[in-house]
Amino acid sequence: MRHMSILVVGSVAFDTLTTPTGHRDKVLGGAATHFALAASFFTPVRVVGVVGKDFGPRQQSVFTSKDIDIAGIEHADGLSFHWTGSYEGTMAEAKTLGTDLNVFGTFAPKIPASYSDSDYLFLANIDPVLQLQVRQQMPNVKLVAGDTMNYWINDHRGNLDKVLAELDILIINDTEARLLSGEHNLVAASKKVMALGPKSLVIKHGEYGATAFFSAASFPDLGEVPKPFRAPALPIEQVVDPTGAGDSFAGGFYGYIASQSALTPAVFKTALFYGGVMGSFAVEQFGTERLQHTSRTEINERFQSFRELSHLDA
Ligand code: AMP
Repeated sequence: MRHMSILVVGSVAFDTLTTPTGHRDKVLGGAATHFALAASFFTPVRVVGVVGKDFGPRQQSVFTSKDIDIAGIEHADGLSFHWTGSYEGTMAEAKTLGTDLNVFGTFAPKIPASYSDSDYLFLANIDPVLQLQVRQQMPNVKLVAGDTMNYWINDHRGNLDKVLAELDILIINDTEARLLSGEHNLVAASKKVMALGPKSLVIKHGEYGATAFFSAASFPDLGEVPKPFRAPALPIEQVVDPTGAGDSFAGGFYGYIASQSALTPAVFKTALFYGGVMGSFAVEQFGTERLQHTSRTEINERFQSFRELSHLDA
């Protein structure tokens, strides 16, 4: 099977993290980083982003030791994006204590010629203006998916709406779906969100899994709209750090889709399981530590656990 490349644009960052289990200063993070690591187990990934002088060979090797091309990561004069966040109690929600855009503040994405044959585009979490600039430079991709967060929904809504209009699949969590739609009920929210552009919507429920919602535009040749589908998350004994779980979910989900010859409802549903698998690894250690050290065998074993978790012989 021909493996198609995913082009991802999003934050490449240093994260300062505090969770009930500990604290880390300036570890490698960023939405594009977590996404790329998770997706690279399924398909080659190419990253577009910007870093500063603080991003050296050690950070670089986290990408290049996997099938991740970083020719599209620009090195600028200044400091890399720096996010400071903390989690309390059940760690269901990250509290943002600081967002230093640094070199992302003046970034104008330029896509290397070697990336131009990418078939799959992922607009990971970053300023929607940058997401749109990358989308416009990649008009011929087969599929466009994306993510965002409360920061952009609250304060950059006009720009975000232009990105939403471009998406085949939007992947967000339930708080973001409610914020974006103004609806508490997730079925009602899904309809309002898809009316903004995305043909299909994946809503992540953290430790409770994820639900896919479809519209008539999701699979136009099918002649029917698939019913909503929910995939589980794996109950994890010790969650160390939820940072990157959402991006890792998206990486597993989209990486699996890109590794298949066509997007069918069955592929979409299976992809939700792989998303859950990659998210479940991400939370077991700080930052990218766990995903750096997982293997395809381990991924397959956990995929099997996910199947067993929700399989019923009635
Ligand atoms: P999540 O998968 O939702 O936990 O995303 C975590 C990652 O999002 C962290 O590694 C941060 O560096 C990154 N991040 C936090 N705030 C922003 C923001 N405003 N724009 C882009 N990336 C962000």
